[in-house]
Amino acid sequence: MTGFNQGNDKTLIDSQTVVLSPKKVDKGELSEKIYYECFFCGKRSGLYTAERRLCEKLSGDKFYCSFCLRHNLHQKSNRNVLVLSLRSIFAYYYYEKYLYTANRELWISEIMDYIDAHESVGLKNPVFVYDTDSFLWFIDFSKVGKSGKKIRVNEVLKTIINMLVCLNLEHHIPSVKTGKLYHKIYDAIMKFYRNRYRPEDKRMLIPTLKDCGAWESKKFSFDWSRDFLPDKIYG
Ligand SMILES: [Zn+2]
Repeated sequence: MTGFNQGNDKTLIDSQTVVLSPKKVDKGELSEKIYYECFFCGKRSGLYTAERRLCEKLSGDKFYCSFCLRHNLHQKSNRNVLVLSLRSIFAYYYYEKYLYTANRELWISEIMDYIDAHESVGLKNPVFVYDTDSFLWFIDFSKVGKSGKKIRVNEVLKTIINMLVCLNLEHHIPSVKTGKLYHKIYDAIMKFYRNRYRPEDKRMLIPTLKDCGAWESKKFSFDWSRDFLPDKIYG
């Protein structure tokens, strides 16, 4: 750039030499999304290099997603955290009441409303943390107990029941046996509360409607419904 005139004042700006050099880019790395599975919540996250490096730095030997890192679920104290989801029921609504049925009984927007309602109710309890990317709840049992600054386990159960009530199961599945479903959940919650233990093959508590009065069509399986993810509904 050289000098220029401003009115009658002559202002001189010294010439400068600017050296332009190509920006160093790691070949392909910055634009390459690589998928990683979180050791704690099992979520598959597509990460670019910068984010991956942050997660790796904080994770240590095992890989943890940014959600788990943000909520300290990578620490030893995670043994106090129960992972719960009602996503198998969302899957049932999606496949059996929307996608695979000739007489559509639910619309996507209605299923979304149910999911939103269950989220609002769950978040009213401060020991519940929710990940919208996986439909998973993380319940911190280090804050559940009988001593001073803890809430009673009944408060955990009450919140889960309130979340289930939001889903209006009896209306959409008249044959459903909600008592059986509540029992399944009650037993699992109480076992975790007392022992801080989940079976190795079922680390997460994801109750299905199996044996609870809901029918499985040929295209649907209670087993894989436990892995139902938001992208089916939200795209
Ligand atoms: Zn995670």
